[in-house]
Amino acid sequence: MKQNSQFVFDAGTLALDLLNTWRFDGSQALDLLQNPEDVVTWLAAVSLPSDASFPELSSSPPNRRILLDEALWLRQDILLIVQSLVAGKVPPPYTIHALNRILTESGTSFRLDSLIITSEEEQSEGMQDQLVLDAHEHASSVLGVLQPIALSAARIVTEENPTRIRQCAARDCMYWFLDTSKSGRRRWCSMSRCGNRAKAAKHYRQRSELS
Ligand SMILES: [Zn+2]
Repeated sequence: MKQNSQFVFDAGTLALDLLNTWRFDGSQALDLLQNPEDVVTWLAAVSLPSDASFPELSSSPPNRRILLDEALWLRQDILLIVQSLVAGKVPPPYTIHALNRILTESGTSFRLDSLIITSEEEQSEGMQDQLVLDAHEHASSVLGVLQPIALSAARIVTEENPTRIRQCAARDCMYWFLDTSKSGRRRWCSMSRCGNRAKAAKHYRQRSELS
């Protein structure tokens, strides 16, 4: 199985999905972002600019390397931020600085273009060609590619209740997720992955205690 087929995307927010590319299964660490291609695949899976929509990435190996390094730094900073929030503390200033560095990068590029007046009526009224502001929804820099993830982290800091930021209760999982359930009692990263497994183990324990 290829490693990147193990990506999971049910944390409820991009920043925590990024954290879940790294986990510790009780005996060893597993990092799904080993090389630039893993990052590009992950970005494509969450519909962020990747090779197809951001040619600078595919045409420049150094850019791809920078993307990997920046993604790993961002992941580390998000982890520190989230751990601080869960502990009821203010995130370290350098992690906020790191987020701001990416937030100020544009994920959208803007450009002034001429809108040429063609209708005779408007021309006869002496209207000049107009300038319009076009927005292009693609990153204009490698760092800008990561902007939506930094934005997701910023929203966690400013809008989320820290008690709703959780880690899966399964000891060999510990994926992060945002508990958006009504009851606020969600324990598992996903029912199909860990919830049912825990239920089956509990059932097995109860049966063996009875027999
Ligand atoms: Zn889990």
